[in-house]
Amino acid sequence: MKDLHVQNRRTALKKMSLGLASIPLLSISKISLAAPSPLRAALGYQEKPKDGHKCSGCMHFVAGKTAKENGGCKLMAGDAGISPEGWCTAWVELKKA
Ligand code: SF4
Repeated sequence: MKDLHVQNRRTALKKMSLGLASIPLLSISKISLAAPSPLRAALGYQEKPKDGHKCSGCMHFVAGKTAKENGGCKLMAGDAGISPEGWCTAWVELKKA
């Protein structure tokens, strides 16, 4: 009975340590997901529209929680800071069904 109790405690401590060890990894992955994509510069991304074209009207745009919040871009994986008012040279008109 005592052995079982000790074994259960050891198992619980192992699980807790694994859980605590994963916290920094989760934090790092969130940071890297939020980091601006290096493609921004290559594609000439800017925070304002160009010639009436903007990210919210681009087929690559992934909308944020609301229409005005930043979202993502299918071409810039992990970059969650794409403005719906932004634009880049890869802009392609979103066709509405
Ligand atoms: S491809 Fe360019 S214009 Fe289109 S959503 Fe991405 S950043 Fe915006």
